[in-house]
Parts: sequence; C-alpha cells; structure tokens
Amino acid sequence: MSGKAIRQAIDAGRWEGVEIHAYKPEGSAPFRDVTRQVLFSRPDLGCDWRYFEVGAGGHSTLERHAHVHAVMVLRGRGACLVGSEVRAVGPHDLVEIAPWTWHQFRASEAEPLGFLCLVNAERDRPVLPSADDLKGLRADPKVAAFIRP
Ligand code: MN
Repeated sequence: MSGKAIRQAIDAGRWEGVEIHAYKPEGSAPFRDVTRQVLFSRPDLGCDWRYFEVGAGGHSTLERHAHVHAVMVLRGRGACLVGSEVRAVGPHDLVEIAPWTWHQFRASEAEPLGFLCLVNAERDRPVLPSADDLKGLRADPKVAAFIRP
C-alpha cells in the first residue's frame, strides 16, 4: 500500500499505486487467467478489499472455505457458481458467498470479468473439491456444465 489517501483510477480496473499480482501462486490451485489487486488492507479495518480480473475465457478456482465473500461486479461479463446456482453476472451485480459454499467465477469468452471482493483479513485457506465433492457437484447437469475443476 502506497500510504496515499487518494489513488486515482487510471483506467477501468486500474488504480495508481496498486500493483497487479498473480491471483494465486502458479500450480497452487487450478485457475485460468486471473489477476489480483489489493485496494484496501489495513489492520484496523479487519477486512481486505480486493479487485480480481478474470481474462476472457478464464476462470477462478472452484473452492470453498469458512470465510465469506462479498462481491460486486465492476466490469465485463461472466457467470458464477454459488452453491448449486449458476448465474450470468455483469456490472454492479452483487454476489454473497456464505461459509463453505462452493463458488467459481468465469469470464465470458468475449469479455473479461472484473469484480470487487471483500473478505476478512484473517481467514482460513480455501479447500479444493475432492473426487467425491466433484461427483456431488456434477450430479446437477447445470453445475456440471459450468465448473472448471
Ligand atoms: Mn473464495
């Protein structure tokens, strides 16, 4: 964090003084073409406010965990899985991911998907689906067609 109180937007999904990081360490979990930016992170806030951008055709990790995500789509088009629900999402849509709910975001083939995500600063590590979990998820054809494990 730069320490500057005001950091101007440079472009859609880009801000001065905000570094663009890899979503996760390569090889740590399955994903495709995702970047991560930390917009706000300070101990007295108790939360981290991040911006993720999934490139066209890309996807975040299919995962679940005890901590909650509060998401607002900022730009682009895509879809997400939350539990057993698969929905198209676009700018300003809100997505709440409750504890231990399977979730995954995918960008459309034509456009990236950029979203803001609020999380507790102290949080547990995401869990990936086991073979049994995948079997359960795939029991729903709509979910089976959507997920990229
Ligand atoms: Mn997550």
